[in-house]
Amino acid sequence: MRFYSTNNRKLRSPLQHAVLKGLAEDGGLFIPEKIPQLSAEFFTSSMSLSFQEISFETLRPYFEDDIPVDILQEIIKGAFNFDAPLVRVDDKIYGLELFHGPTLAFKDFGARFMARVMSYLIRNSDDELTVLVATSGDTGSAVANGFLGVEGIKVVILYPSGKVSEIQEKQLTTMGNNITALEIKGVFDDCQKLVKAAFVDKELSQQMQLTSANSINIARLLPQSCYYMYAYAQLKDKEVVFSVPSGNFGNLTAGLIAKKMGLPVRMFVAATNINDSVPRYLESGRFEPHPSHQTISNAMDVGNPSNFSRMLELYNNDIDAMRKDVHGVHFTDKQTRDIIKQVHQQYNYILDPHGAVGYLGVKNLEAKSPNNRNGIFLETAHPAKFLDIVQPLISEEIKIPARLQQCLDKKKQSIVLSNKFEELKSFLLS
Ligand SMILES: *Cc1c(COP(=O)(O)O)cnc(C)c1O
Repeated sequence: MRFYSTNNRKLRSPLQHAVLKGLAEDGGLFIPEKIPQLSAEFFTSSMSLSFQEISFETLRPYFEDDIPVDILQEIIKGAFNFDAPLVRVDDKIYGLELFHGPTLAFKDFGARFMARVMSYLIRNSDDELTVLVATSGDTGSAVANGFLGVEGIKVVILYPSGKVSEIQEKQLTTMGNNITALEIKGVFDDCQKLVKAAFVDKELSQQMQLTSANSINIARLLPQSCYYMYAYAQLKDKEVVFSVPSGNFGNLTAGLIAKKMGLPVRMFVAATNINDSVPRYLESGRFEPHPSHQTISNAMDVGNPSNFSRMLELYNNDIDAMRKDVHGVHFTDKQTRDIIKQVHQQYNYILDPHGAVGYLGVKNLEAKSPNNRNGIFLETAHPAKFLDIVQPLISEEIKIPARLQQCLDKKKQSIVLSNKFEELKSFLLS
């Protein structure tokens, strides 16, 4: 399988190039040259397969030309070594819990799979690969954790000093091994600028193999299709709606790909906080990105979602076709807080602020076109990650999962640097 750029269908690249570069030369995002169809039989027999088996069938057509199938199987086993259970919350509403991985957020699926694919693709290279990531909080820990202990790869995370939550900082700075955390005296934008400067620096690119492993990497996107398939297999019922709490829309795009592969999905809800560029596009037909606004579902504070170009490509720029599959809606922080409270009182289920937006999405669609369908919202993070927001809303004490507690008990290890590029450069060269 080859991958083309969303800016140019003629520019096709093999897997190795698409994964190690991340972004196409013309600035576009890579997308598979065709979306393979899974057999109707798969969707009936998949009911009895395990999550790893379903994932293998889902990913195989994209990777089998470049990665031997037995190795692909090993990669999936290693990456998806935790469950994605479908939990009933309300009569017809289910949460697909995607937070059972090491960093308690759904980004573990993509990051862990991508890390293992990269490690395989560089197996014959003598140079160590250095992954540079700037993070405002969650992405950094999922990416770093994905690469933890992966041979031939070193990870350097840049995060803004004093600008991430205590839990996030602990997650970033306690991994050790092949992961180094750089605490930058500045804001997130400084971290991002430093990373960008490193990628265009001639001397650095001669001396070392640098890659970004950022969220738009195709090897992070595709594995996210697997849990949609698995949710369907767990539900054992035909009519399903998925509500996806969205920021950069990678998660939703992976769902759309699963549908194109044959998964019988009635409708997707693109549920956002007040950063609502995509819901507004679906309503008005105009895409008008804006600077992001801060909210309590902060992993979705994105004004210019990077995967929007992939969504357009999947629908051939046909907005009416997209509207048939995707319903857009946004919610305020107040609505989000209220629903966390209400769902806990009524159903004894603790939503995190992102999953809460997803839950509201299911309810919104149900109110617009009532027909008694199963609604699945993606619960993208464990509520303990957002303790300061969720705990005051509910009476019950939120239990901190052991894997999070473990890292909270460890000692922070970081290297403090200024926001000057020369300092980063000499660190990387040393
Ligand atoms: C990243 C993230 C999202 C948004 O996912 P996208 O793929 O960027 O739309 C939602 N919830 C949580 C907890 C996240 O970390």
